[in-house]
Amino acid sequence: MPVLRVALDLPLHRLFDYLAEAATVADVGLRVRVPFGRGEKLGVIVAVVDDSDWPLDQLKPAGEILRDLPPLPRDFFGLCEFASTYYQAAFGEVVMQALPVGLKRLDPPTRRNGRPSGKVAAGRRPELTAEQSIAVEAIDPGAGFSACLLHGVTGSGKTEVYLRLVEKTLALGRQVLLLVPEINLTPQLEDRVRARFPDTGVVSLHSELAEAARERNWRAAFGGEANIVLGTRLSIFTPLPRLGLIVVDEEHDASFKQQDGMRYSARDIAVFRARQLNIPILLGSATPSLETWANAQGGRYGLLTLRERANPEARLPTVRVLDTGRMVLKEGVSDALVGAIKERLARGEQSLVFLNRRGYAPVLACPACGWVSRCTRCAANMVLHLADRRLRCHHCGCEHRVPKACPTCGNQDIHPFGRGTQRLEGWLQEQFPEARVLRVDRDSVKSRKQWEAVLERIHGGEADILVGTQMLAKGHDFPKLTLVGALGADAALFAADWRAPERLFAQLMQVAGRAGRAELKGEVLIQTQYPDHPLFAALVAHDYPGFAAAQLKEREQAGFPPYAFQAMLRAEAPAMADAIAFLQAAAGLPVIGEHENVFIYDPVPMKMARLANLERGQLLAESHSRPALQAFLPRWREAIEGLKAPSKLRWHIEVDPLEF
Ligand code: ADP
Ligand code: ZN
Ligand code: ZN
Repeated sequence: MPVLRVALDLPLHRLFDYLAEAATVADVGLRVRVPFGRGEKLGVIVAVVDDSDWPLDQLKPAGEILRDLPPLPRDFFGLCEFASTYYQAAFGEVVMQALPVGLKRLDPPTRRNGRPSGKVAAGRRPELTAEQSIAVEAIDPGAGFSACLLHGVTGSGKTEVYLRLVEKTLALGRQVLLLVPEINLTPQLEDRVRARFPDTGVVSLHSELAEAARERNWRAAFGGEANIVLGTRLSIFTPLPRLGLIVVDEEHDASFKQQDGMRYSARDIAVFRARQLNIPILLGSATPSLETWANAQGGRYGLLTLRERANPEARLPTVRVLDTGRMVLKEGVSDALVGAIKERLARGEQSLVFLNRRGYAPVLACPACGWVSRCTRCAANMVLHLADRRLRCHHCGCEHRVPKACPTCGNQDIHPFGRGTQRLEGWLQEQFPEARVLRVDRDSVKSRKQWEAVLERIHGGEADILVGTQMLAKGHDFPKLTLVGALGADAALFAADWRAPERLFAQLMQVAGRAGRAELKGEVLIQTQYPDHPLFAALVAHDYPGFAAAQLKEREQAGFPPYAFQAMLRAEAPAMADAIAFLQAAAGLPVIGEHENVFIYDPVPMKMARLANLERGQLLAESHSRPALQAFLPRWREAIEGLKAPSKLRWHIEVDPLEF
């Protein structure tokens, strides 16, 4: 009797066998209902075999095999297998997280029809610049695997290169997967793609889509009706029968990294997938991740460069550093910046003040007794939100009303310390009463609809001064914006996290890229107490390669990635002692002695040591060889699974961690 080997959504590194009388190998890749425990589960058939490691008479018969969807293809399983092995995630969980919710339900699926996409006016197709032509020529969607980095400043015409490559790929009758960091922030890109390819099925896949729409789009992608799939990180797992090209836009963006559940990098999986399918992959960015840059410098990736802005009128903005050590600041803002805003107002142009901290003030404090608004559940302060008079923890989300007096000593004179976007917005409005000030952050813009409305207001010239977080930094053309002022940049310069400068540079480059995108020349003013820091010199010179070379040199000397490979074991428990004791035990496992090339550090509390009432510790495993680390991890993981742990303790392994 045939045996079905089924992947189930469970954190177990194994498959489950069931009997199925009429099953054949043609059923591999179909979904199946199977009895599990006292209930039933939906799984995916990974193999149909005629024997089991278990006695056949102990196997239960499988339930119904669902045939509303064609079988998931072999390369899909290959991709899941890779992700499962590389990230130490259970194969069944990887397979199931790749499917839209509607297809994971036990209740009988209803067949949904409907072709995606409405027609949009055809987009203008500009003559390519010489550099763009070289980039487009360099990539041949018919010629097998290649990985290339497309490095070009904002406005240099990267998107145009993507569109031409999409065109080439469609001409070969193949599909394109275009990965973007946050779809919410890129509606313009979606419009551009639809406008350029009005007769082609274009679908988007991201977590903000309603369940039914997501399933419909997924089916269109898998069914091959949609030729262009525009998606966020989760779409990297979508099975695509004719995939011919993968593009990863803003490849350095941290949102390609999934930070819970299976912790994976969609960009890195994308590179694997391109190799697996023998197709090209293009990674685009103005500020590539240092890992990608090192790959390009080392010749493992091709390097394509766009040095100039595509529109010759749109020159790069002038970047100036304002030495705040020599200035009097009002509400953190220098007179020079105030003056520059004034000039823009007089000329009817827009200004953007960038401060990557939302809320009114990062903390409320009592000068009499020293009380500060700490979150009781986290090692963090509660942020003051004056708009709705709440104290809110940005880490665990808990919130309460702003107290009228100090909860400790009763002092009524408690003060906000520091500043966030709300406070800055209020102050700027006071300084410029006639100006229309618009704040753009996650508090003022919560949905895609609101975001589109905000973009319309900015484009329609209904705002003079924008105050915003990095939300505003991403991929938008604001033709009237000619001034960007950046506040609060210094914190990242000396942060304990050695990736902080890389992120700061990318952020400032990106926000600087908002200025002067059309005919109007832009200016960027960065306030800092450390004007001589090399990071700022690189920004002023628009010199990413120089910055990257200096950073990589430092990393090489310190033995940090990309010159080392890391995995982090994290444990969380109600008591830190339990978390640390568990990590200590993991650090002492005998299997470590068998892997000389892997170094295990001491367990330490995480930087955010307490989150939502759980104490968190971590333990770093490192090697100078990726294969050595990869050989070690499954054996270590199995040994850790055998450790005794308090019942409330949770742990996971994160490979290639980005945050410490
Ligand atoms: P990026 O993706 O690098 O930010 P875009 O592709 O969005 O750059 O191009 C920036 C602007 O320049 C857009 O308005 C685009 O329409 C325009 N553009 C791109 N390529 C060309 C070209 N070859 N000639 C003229 N304009 C172009
Ligand atoms: Zn007090
Ligand atoms: Zn909290």
